[in-house]
Amino acid sequence: MKVAVFSTKAYDRQFLAAANSQQQHDLVFFEPRLNQDTAILASGFPAVCVFVHDQVDASTLKILAANGTRLVALRCAGFNNVDLKAAAELGITIVRVPAYSPYGVAEHAVGLILSLNRKIHRAHNRIREGNFSLDGLLGFNLNDRTVGIIGTGKIGLILGQIMKGFGCHLLAYDVYQNPELEALGGKYVELSELFAKSDIISLHCPLIPETHHLIDEEAIAQMKPGMMIINTSRGALIDTQAVIEGLKSGNIGYLGVDVYEQESELFFEDLSGEIIQDDIFQRLTTFPNVLITGHQAFFTAEALSNIADTTFANITDFEQKRPCPHEISHQPQSVVSKQ
Ligand code: NAD
Repeated sequence: MKVAVFSTKAYDRQFLAAANSQQQHDLVFFEPRLNQDTAILASGFPAVCVFVHDQVDASTLKILAANGTRLVALRCAGFNNVDLKAAAELGITIVRVPAYSPYGVAEHAVGLILSLNRKIHRAHNRIREGNFSLDGLLGFNLNDRTVGIIGTGKIGLILGQIMKGFGCHLLAYDVYQNPELEALGGKYVELSELFAKSDIISLHCPLIPETHHLIDEEAIAQMKPGMMIINTSRGALIDTQAVIEGLKSGNIGYLGVDVYEQESELFFEDLSGEIIQDDIFQRLTTFPNVLITGHQAFFTAEALSNIADTTFANITDFEQKRPCPHEISHQPQSVVSKQ
């Protein structure tokens, strides 16, 4: 099938081309993101393939549909950038890769926890400058601390397994309880209790209207003074301005984020020669107890390989008119993913 692949970097091309050697789809790689201005590039392509920052909104979908596209294959799990209602109305099928790197993301979250706690990012800079002082590098034992996990699906469960290995107590909040998390000794509680008792809170729920700005001023006021917040899920789960106030007052002791609400303006590009205009982001970078990575939690060789394999399996299912287990369908009251 002819596939227009948007938002491609060299590493995407490498892994997609390798996986396609088994499948023989006709791939054309485009560097720009898909949006209403670039959608015209996909004219005559029955399938387009996109990533997290492509804007698959109603205007873009209308242009795609008018020019023959019938399938949008997401190379990611989250689909908050897709207007599913518009896609359904236009007869465009949406498929995704529901799980490609749960270990990679959970392990990255643990990396943020360890680096923030033991100030490894600061120690690294000091040593390079010949400063061997330990002042300001004091950490705490993870053993016997309480970790609150919000969203206990694939990634949240693995984080629980790893933190259990450190000797942590696990509290959890989810709209569905995961028996595997309970088997680890994790206890499901209301959000208010999780906020009040956790030394570390890690976010692993999707970004949906109910979870938008889940961590806001009111939530921060309920948290243990000096606690740590980790977000490897989606930026808008956090009200960044409220978190900045929490960091300034000391209510929040540490913040580790791999995602940021306005990240589409920044992440995945080399902007080192430019003046960053986002003052909220720039303020975040000034705190010694904030660690930011640019949406790289998923970025392991295993993940890129899994993404490529599942994406082509999805496209082949569509081409051969087989039911695709990774199709996302829109229903009037809710959004239902078949997996
Ligand atoms: P998953 O679907 O397996 O788990 C998500 C969990 O969140 C589910 O258990 C679900 O019941 C729960 N949930 C839904 N609504 C909730 C609510 N209102 N409150 C609390 N919990 C709720 O997903 P996953 O594979 O574990 O991924 C989790 C998130 O991680 C994804 O939504 C995605 O945004 C993010 N992610 C980030 C990266 C990265 O590179 N940083 C990579 C992959 C996924």
